[in-house]
Amino acid sequence: MLPVKCIMHDPLPADPSRPFDIGGAVLSALGPDILADDFDMEAAIARLRRDPERDVATALLDQRSVSGIGNVFKCETLFLERVWPWARVADLDDDTLRRLVGRARALMRRNLDGRPRRTHFSLDPRELMWVDERTGRPCRVCGTPIVWGWHPDEVRKSWYCPSCQSVPAGAVVRR
Ligand SMILES: [Zn+2]
Repeated sequence: MLPVKCIMHDPLPADPSRPFDIGGAVLSALGPDILADDFDMEAAIARLRRDPERDVATALLDQRSVSGIGNVFKCETLFLERVWPWARVADLDDDTLRRLVGRARALMRRNLDGRPRRTHFSLDPRELMWVDERTGRPCRVCGTPIVWGWHPDEVRKSWYCPSCQSVPAGAVVRR
């Protein structure tokens, strides 16, 4: 018998730290599905704010906040909105969070055709991304070499432009 995949959408505001126990499997409540036609932006923003001390890149990957954003679209979204991946959620206003989530949603919905993922829509089909996995290559906006760094307690790193994405003075990124 094939294993059954169970995805649970909770209809009520739920505490993301409180797991559900279903038949022995512990599942946490997922955030709103970013690709859904009736995506609930305000619910997503409220969930992103539940852990205001973490960095925004980590928050965007948390499926309990918003369901569906992967690392490529996270990096590309943060670049396109000029937000430094290590900015604390607490330091970003609601409009910025809405722009980030809206941008990720638009990019992902534009990538539903089964073709190679892309966020950089130029005539050259080999140039698919702005920053993701472009280490050392020039930023397409300002020419500064693209760099990357790790996040605390997170296995996925961020690529970013240190000029376009307003790195705070004195900030240290682990590499
Ligand atoms: Zn740049």
